[in-house]
Amino acid sequence: MASRMRCRKCGQPAAINMRRHRLALCGNCYPDWFRAQVQRTIRHYQMCGQDDRILVAVSGGKDSLTLWDVLLHLGYKAEGLYIQLGILDNDYSIESEKHVAAFAGARGASFQVVNVKETYGLSIPEMARHRRRMAKACSVCGLVKRHIMNRVACEGGYAAITTGHNLDDEAAVLMQNTLHWEPGYLARQLPALPSAHPRLARKAKPLCMMYERECAAYALVQGIDYIYDECPFAVGAKTILYKELLNRLERESPGAKAQFYAQFIRAKESGSLCFVEPGALLLHDCETCGQPTTAPGRCAFCRLWHGGDGSESLGEKE
Ligand code: SF4
Repeated sequence: MASRMRCRKCGQPAAINMRRHRLALCGNCYPDWFRAQVQRTIRHYQMCGQDDRILVAVSGGKDSLTLWDVLLHLGYKAEGLYIQLGILDNDYSIESEKHVAAFAGARGASFQVVNVKETYGLSIPEMARHRRRMAKACSVCGLVKRHIMNRVACEGGYAAITTGHNLDDEAAVLMQNTLHWEPGYLARQLPALPSAHPRLARKAKPLCMMYERECAAYALVQGIDYIYDECPFAVGAKTILYKELLNRLERESPGAKAQFYAQFIRAKESGSLCFVEPGALLLHDCETCGQPTTAPGRCAFCRLWHGGDGSESLGEKE
């Protein structure tokens, strides 16, 4: 990564050179620097308090395990939530759960597993096959994961649910939503989303100001054993193209990705950029599960299972 460079702090050979910060650090100094950056983001966006119980959504990948490791090192009461999706291509779900269990075991951290098939009767690929109108597994998967994360966070009394989205993820989504002028998504894209309903958990992305390669470097120097394989359904995702485009920009102009995302957030914070999400101000209780929903009747998750939007339902399992 930075073969002939020296660590700015101690003078040892550098392990990573961050051109956007004009900063090279060795493997010993880098983790403290990384954690300090994340702590600053947590405090600036008031994501959670030091004594709060926090839920960390973990997939077994580098970002979510990096986040969990950082939060534990910073002294947060961070408990894991692994959602077993039942994706069996390349044993993806089996292997990812093993990585989560090994990570937690090595650190004495507690975590819980929600097995989608055992809880609801169908795995994510099975749901996607049944639901012909939703051709992509990711649509079903996103909906199911959001519902489960919110349910577990609310039932468990956690102060917030945190996810491992990094700056590359956020910048790619921002690019996608800007190119399509999606005011609803642009309105909701924030480092921390406060709870707007008693049954809606606070959500936070503590790694949102860290580059993907910085997260990968942290996982590497900390010896975090994560699952290298991507979910098989991620192949061909549009965000991959946007990430490549942003990385080309970053090569020409170090810091371009960070500027794109951070300036967007700053403009929203200052009020100079304001998106109003239609219908977002009024939340209703889902008539089946009680979770908040923007339209009266059933929420999107319950419509998936019980119908209510005129489309095929998956059954009455819950
Ligand atoms: Fe779910 Fe799609 Fe992500 Fe796979 S790539 S975990 S199916 S959202």
